[in-house]
Amino acid sequence: MTDFIEKLKNAAAEFLFTVRCPYCSKVIKRSEYACCECKNKFPETSVKEYAVGGHICAAPFPYEGIFKNALYAFKFKCRGGYSKQLAFMIVQSVNEVYNGEHFDIITCVPIHKKALKQRGYNQSELLARDCANIMGVPFVQTLEKIKENKIQHNLKSNERAQNVKGVYRIIDKKAVDGKKVLIIDDVITTGNTLGECARILMKYNCKKVSCATLCAVIIK
Ligand SMILES: [Zn+2]
Repeated sequence: MTDFIEKLKNAAAEFLFTVRCPYCSKVIKRSEYACCECKNKFPETSVKEYAVGGHICAAPFPYEGIFKNALYAFKFKCRGGYSKQLAFMIVQSVNEVYNGEHFDIITCVPIHKKALKQRGYNQSELLARDCANIMGVPFVQTLEKIKENKIQHNLKSNERAQNVKGVYRIIDKKAVDGKKVLIIDDVITTGNTLGECARILMKYNCKKVSCATLCAVIIK
């Protein structure tokens, strides 16, 4: 009987804590971060882009195909549970692009409290917290979004810089003073959002701002 109960408990745990591949949603082993098929599609090298202001941004994936799907599910289909697996890939990319450089703190691009209420989580914060855990660097919430703006990717490129002005504000000046900061977002497109966040962090005496995202829109 005890054996039976034990088996039942294990089956329930397997069912409740099913781990899926973030890129195709196939069930995978708990120790894995993606299925073999998807791993074969991973690019060999990271994407290196630049946020406005010249801050480097490391991303493991281009914003297309299975990577775009993973980001969509993570952000809009309540698949916040993918965070650890996705953060694992961001950390690999950070190590590659920044060559093992040390960061004092990790932070994230914030979302407006209305969006937070609707979605229940800030996707960039989940990624940043998991990256911080993996890298052994403290996570600090340094910025807040004080104004709702239009969605960046619906705008023409000349409207995007204007759209992020006055949208973010520092909440922890002491935490960034003299620090090397790594800021995480889910995707970089034109780099205006990360650029604006970096500008504010630099204004409050940050030593250096480096960026990392899961996906990068490759500007041709
Ligand atoms: Zn897969």
